[in-house]
Amino acid sequence: MSRGDGNAIRDLVIVGGGTAGWMMAAAAGRVLAGGLRSITLIESDAIGTIGVGEATIPPILGFNELLGIDERAFLEATQGTFKLGIEFENWGRPGTRYFHPFGRTGRDFDGIAFHQLWSWLRDAEGVGSLEEYSMSAMAARNGKFAHPQADPRSPLSNLQYAYHFDATSYAAFLRSYAIERGVARQEGRIVDGELDGETGHVLAVKLEDSTRVAGDLFIDCSGFRSMLLGEAMDVPFTDWSHWLPCDRAVAVPSAAKEQIAPYTRSRALAAGWQWRIPLQHRTGNGHVYASAYMEDAEAERLLLANLDSEPADDPRPLRFRTGVREKLWERNVVALGLSGGFLEPLESTSIHLIQTGISKLLALFPDRDFTDVERDEYNRLMTSSYAAVRDFIVAHYHVTQRDDTPFWNYVRTMDIPDSLKTRLELYRRKGRIFRYDDELFTVGSWAAVLEGQGMKPLGSDPLCAALDADGLAQAMRRMKQAHHAMAARLPLHRNAIGGG
Ligand SMILES: Cc1cc2nc3c(=O)[nH]c(=O)nc-3n(C[C@H](O)[C@H](O)[C@H](O)COP(=O)(O)OP(=O)(O)OC[C@H]3O[C@@H](n4cnc5c(N)ncnc54)[C@H](O)[C@@H]3O)c2cc1C
Repeated sequence: MSRGDGNAIRDLVIVGGGTAGWMMAAAAGRVLAGGLRSITLIESDAIGTIGVGEATIPPILGFNELLGIDERAFLEATQGTFKLGIEFENWGRPGTRYFHPFGRTGRDFDGIAFHQLWSWLRDAEGVGSLEEYSMSAMAARNGKFAHPQADPRSPLSNLQYAYHFDATSYAAFLRSYAIERGVARQEGRIVDGELDGETGHVLAVKLEDSTRVAGDLFIDCSGFRSMLLGEAMDVPFTDWSHWLPCDRAVAVPSAAKEQIAPYTRSRALAAGWQWRIPLQHRTGNGHVYASAYMEDAEAERLLLANLDSEPADDPRPLRFRTGVREKLWERNVVALGLSGGFLEPLESTSIHLIQTGISKLLALFPDRDFTDVERDEYNRLMTSSYAAVRDFIVAHYHVTQRDDTPFWNYVRTMDIPDSLKTRLELYRRKGRIFRYDDELFTVGSWAAVLEGQGMKPLGSDPLCAALDADGLAQAMRRMKQAHHAMAARLPLHRNAIGGG
């Protein structure tokens, strides 16, 4: 089938076969293949992929739906598990913990956000903690899982979930999917890009064995090296490491546990934090830390000391730089994944930002004349997505009472982005939270994290004064009890995985 437009993109080239490259290839195979002459993905087995990136957030379900992927087959192929949120340990202070759940927490009432109602009544008898109003958190705390239900009367209508999966198996799964839908895979190391002397567009990339792969649109998924956007297009990198000083990680798998936790755990350590991602066949672990505050050997020692099960391999070091390219789309090059930018995996947002990039590119898919308006809109939307995620992650570090190490003293007292300053001030005064543009994290997410980190608003929302406090507290107790009762009845996570 032809698109019937003489100016349409004909040949799409994807440079790199990590998670970003194969996600793009799968989406292109699904929605673009019929209208293009060719879709080629180039990857180099000799270079390999980053091999981490195993925790996701709920919008991944939308990506799988677009591809028409069956959940059971997906979990089996990727050794995947369900994820209901993230447990944060020792973040606000050593010895504290809170849960950042997916899905809705409580119900807004009379136009007042639920966290405001809860905060107003937090000391009333039996009202309990904020997380008791989240079905996802209550299921997670009990090691349980069930799919959401549409019926708004069921507490399960508030539950949302995502996946943990094996990164290598995920890329392999998408690779088969994409190849079945007409994507051509080209093995080889790219050594050079060929640019048009007049327009500066990439005309082709050249491989080590002299193969030349030409295209109209190039998707740079080459990882941290950023071969096309960073090197060939020379788009500068905006460094955010003064706000997010962690720049290294050391990762190690460990043995799977009999009971698989349906959530990611993030445990704060002296100069960073450690993740635990439970899969069916193993547990993924990694320690993200700031090299200015901790030696590599000490980071590795802490990682191993904090494992819940026997290590299953040697620890693997990784280095990164936090920030984003000034533009994610320049001329005929769009960068997805690590080649465009990186934010540490504290809220599992990188794969989501790849997905966001793909969906916005499809929504603004260009012709060969590459008009500025599409490119500019893409850059505006993507830059704001990165900045919104950045602010959310910075808040985890900055809103803390920790003063026990130089690292925590730095992040607690550092200057923060103006956008975050305003947000925190609004919350500090009267618990107000606003969601800007189409930013990823909801009012409920911000409330869970700010409350969990130990930030208590000075006052309540004045609108609460008009409410019947006793009646509301009674309704809240009933809701809380319904969550507890439902969590007790749900199947164990491991059984739920078996049942898809
Ligand atoms: C410590 C850490 C933990 C993370 N955890 C999470 C997480 O829990 N959740 C999440 O969403 N994200 C996470 N991420 C991010 C996630 O890993 C990446 O966003 C994701 O894997 C995408 O990577 P990529 O495809 O952009 O790059 P890569 O995986 O690096 O792939 C690059 C590809 O380009 C190819 N390539 C490079 N140079 C050449 C060349 N010259 N010729 C040919 N091919 C070439 C490589 O062979 C490879 O195929 C984490 C990242 C780090 C560093």
